[in-house]
Amino acid sequence: MNYISKNNLVQLLEILKKDYQVYLPVKKGEQRFYDRYTTFTDDIVIGEIRPFEPLKAFFTPAREIVAEDFKPDIPHSHDKPFAIVGVKACDLKGFKVQDYVFKDHDYQDPFYMKLREENLIISADCTCTIDTCFCLSLDVKPYPQENFDINLSQVTEGYIVDVGSPRGQTLVEKNSSLFEDVKEKLISEREEQRARVAGEVEENIEKNDIPHQDALNGAIEKKFESDIWKNEAETCVECGACNAICPTCHCFLLYDQKDEEHMARLRIWDSCMIKDFARVAGGANPRPELWMRLRNRFEKKFDFFPKVADVYACTGCGRCILACPAKIDIREVLKKLTER
Ligand code: SF4
Ligand code: SF4
Repeated sequence: MNYISKNNLVQLLEILKKDYQVYLPVKKGEQRFYDRYTTFTDDIVIGEIRPFEPLKAFFTPAREIVAEDFKPDIPHSHDKPFAIVGVKACDLKGFKVQDYVFKDHDYQDPFYMKLREENLIISADCTCTIDTCFCLSLDVKPYPQENFDINLSQVTEGYIVDVGSPRGQTLVEKNSSLFEDVKEKLISEREEQRARVAGEVEENIEKNDIPHQDALNGAIEKKFESDIWKNEAETCVECGACNAICPTCHCFLLYDQKDEEHMARLRIWDSCMIKDFARVAGGANPRPELWMRLRNRFEKKFDFFPKVADVYACTGCGRCILACPAKIDIREVLKKLTER
């Protein structure tokens, strides 16, 4: 454990800029968005809460070329890798699902593998909450515990630094003059802050009566034929925003595009809420009704992934609650799933 002052962190970011495209959260109105770092400005928020965009955007871009002009090799970006700063614990949990799909199961995606190997993660503790945060229900603490290179806990005038990987260790060692020992009183300050933020999340959970994930074990199977799905789907407009904004959703679509000279195969994010998502050759569709697709979204997150990868594919980030134009609230659905 080390300490880095704010001024020295700015110096570290300047050093990182040489080898990485550095992105960090910038506050615009009430939201925080990842922005390319050029110089340290007052609207940069390394603490606070998760940015608007899910972290997956840096590892599986919303749209990317995966093959070109019948070339046998895969297209390579010549840009520098990303150093993503201020990543929150709820997004880091997303790796448990994304890694299962693209890296650790039966297939290794070369694009994802490359970005996982090259990108640097500088995560940060949450220093506040909003009323849609419910990470603790999904066993995610509001401060990172794994899947980062280094983590920053904001304290007076600077940050406590935890190292989480050999790459993080090398970064600290190479720039050791920027780091110093942590004073005891700062460690206490961090503990108090962590307890305060966790307390705020607990309050959200209590106020909204959100079940803990343990209570969801078997709940989808029990409520598979329930009216929940039809009732909830009544207002859905099939926009797919809930999938796009989610740090664990990962489904994609391949399509070809050509002009007079070139041909390319592209991969874009897909959404299981869209009618044609599961349509197969001949036009058959196993989920023709919208409520079936809504049920499938919850089944995948709260039944399929716990069974195959021992992880609930939700991090409690609350993004889908705010993104849904139909005001379909995952907290309400989870509550209904556990009601007798
Ligand atoms: S389902 Fe909603 S709350 Fe859960 S991780 Fe996805 S966006 Fe966040
Ligand atoms: S964001 Fe809401 S309206 Fe859009 S597809 Fe998802 S549940 Fe339906």
